[in-house]
Amino acid sequence: MFRSTIISLLGFFSIVSNASAQTCVGNPVAVQILGSGGPAINPERASAGYLLWVGAQARLLFDIGGGSYIRFGQTRAKLADLAMVGISHLHPDHTSDLAALMWGSNRLRVEPLPIVGPSGNDVAPDFTTFLSRMFDAKSGAYQVLGSTLGAEQPGTERPRLDVRIVDVTKTEPTKVLDRDGISVTALRIPHANLPTLAYRVETRGVSVVFSSDQNGTDRKFVDFAKNANVLIMHLAIASSAPPSPLHASPALVGRLGQEAGAKRLILGHIGQFDLDPAIADVKKAYTGALTVGGDLQCTPVQ
Ligand SMILES: [Zn+2]
Ligand SMILES: [Zn+2]
Repeated sequence: MFRSTIISLLGFFSIVSNASAQTCVGNPVAVQILGSGGPAINPERASAGYLLWVGAQARLLFDIGGGSYIRFGQTRAKLADLAMVGISHLHPDHTSDLAALMWGSNRLRVEPLPIVGPSGNDVAPDFTTFLSRMFDAKSGAYQVLGSTLGAEQPGTERPRLDVRIVDVTKTEPTKVLDRDGISVTALRIPHANLPTLAYRVETRGVSVVFSSDQNGTDRKFVDFAKNANVLIMHLAIASSAPPSPLHASPALVGRLGQEAGAKRLILGHIGQFDLDPAIADVKKAYTGALTVGGDLQCTPVQ
């Protein structure tokens, strides 16, 4: 009880003070939440986004939903430091600030930026097509960002995105990055019928797993998240909500965290409902360290 009060207070302070910069440096490895909310309009929570800090640099960005762009600025992260961007799926609350991040990024980046996303199916384009529809210099919605995909445009002769696709028909993890002592794998997860990826990062002897949106029905994810030092899962629906093809219930979130053996569970993508019963349901199964996420909150990984 006392512990959860402290966690709640920490979450409160991180929310009320989010107008100012909050850097996450000073740890060997740390996770910083850009947006701790879901798609609904929320005065305190941006939509989903996460930074993985290694030392003094933000090296990985996972998702960039609405509002995560300004949070990125508040963290003082630098685009040139990023080794990869991982996009979990094409729902707007995970992608809608991507164009904002790319606008001007060609001036700020110094080398091609790997950006990873899922393959497509009949309800979503593959990630390459998605980016082309946004940024293609001739047919994209943002033709002005054509250089992002390699078009030669005056004054923007700078590194393009290095687009990589993970085949979501694969049932085993796919390695998507291995450089500078940082290894990242991706695994398909069930989120209704929308192609969706979870990501696992290994660096400096610790591991972080970003679950993204999922209904929690694929046991492969438990293996994928096994013994993570930090597991981030989404608390998208209330305990009282009917079963969803999109999102796991709070009780299932707790069970998955427990079965994976995660040392710390961070709850993100928090919906707008009474959190107390939801967190109580998580705790019924999950007995490790628990953090209720807030925007700009920084969690050392250990
Ligand atoms: Zn979402
Ligand atoms: Zn989603």
